[in-house]
Amino acid sequence: MILHGKPVQERVLAEVKAGVEKLKAARGITPTLAVVLIGGDPASQVYVGHKRRAADAVGIIARDALYPDGLGQRELNELLRGLSADPSVHGILLQLPLPKGLDEASALAAISPEKDVDGLHPTNLGRLLAGEPGFVPCTPAGCLEILDHYGAKLEGAETVIVGRSRLVGKPLAQLMLARNATVTMCHTRTRNLAEHTRRADVLCVAAGRPRMIKGDMVKEGAWVVDIGVNRLDTGKLAGDVDFASVEPRAAGVTPVPGGVGLMTIGMLLKNTLAAATRQLGG
Ligand code: NAP
Repeated sequence: MILHGKPVQERVLAEVKAGVEKLKAARGITPTLAVVLIGGDPASQVYVGHKRRAADAVGIIARDALYPDGLGQRELNELLRGLSADPSVHGILLQLPLPKGLDEASALAAISPEKDVDGLHPTNLGRLLAGEPGFVPCTPAGCLEILDHYGAKLEGAETVIVGRSRLVGKPLAQLMLARNATVTMCHTRTRNLAEHTRRADVLCVAAGRPRMIKGDMVKEGAWVVDIGVNRLDTGKLAGDVDFASVEPRAAGVTPVPGGVGLMTIGMLLKNTLAAATRQLGG
């Protein structure tokens, strides 16, 4: 089965749209997302365009803060602190990766945790670890949304995550633990990667290595979530999973494009609505 992101994204966006309309009717406030893009990375410009269009479609205002010629660290942190203090802005998206020379950790820490709709501020990551309410990073949250939609059972499932980044692997592991999965984390120092992946009932891959997971590395009937987005020399996009050899063995696998990436945008807008609602005392 192909685990398409589109129907899941459509459901999430419909829920967000209804919530935005309710908030507007009750409080006369339109949720507003500040979109901060530093530098001229073409892929980031494409992502930001997708996010802006999706925001428009659900009635969220996307306010651009674009700096194609770059910005110094101090100016960037001041910009983020200014947006954090601006009551007309409810959520802040800092498009990553930042250009070379800028420190992501320092910039992320300059965003108010209450407007950190990407869920990457240390306070929100700490809340996730502590099991307290906060903003959850969008891509891992989107992975769970897809698995739930298609009926994957997570409780007690052997779940193997390839990749341990702050953006994807680590928060995904916490979300899986919170759902009572048994979690194994793999990375570049993992010995015999295939021995781990073959045990997985649920295999999530966020390594940034095109088609590294082949069919013989996957257990028959496993749920496979491909988070990787890699641009091939041909210009085409490919995931971290070799779809052709994995799909026939798996219970389901997400396509690239058309899988997790769509959910990332959906969860960002869901978090923006939640941020506006909380800031208005809802
Ligand atoms: P990252 O920060 O580069 O982290 C990659 C992780 O994968 C690291 O933990 C690395 O291990 C591990 N890894 C790399 N090669 C490996 C290998 N051969 N075997 C085992 N582990 C390996 O990347 P990221 O930001 O998490 O992103 C990962 C992928 O997801 C990228 O393709 C990115 O474009 C994509 N992504 C997609 C979305 C979306 O919305 N669909 C969102 C975010 C990211 P070490 O820690 O040991 O180096």
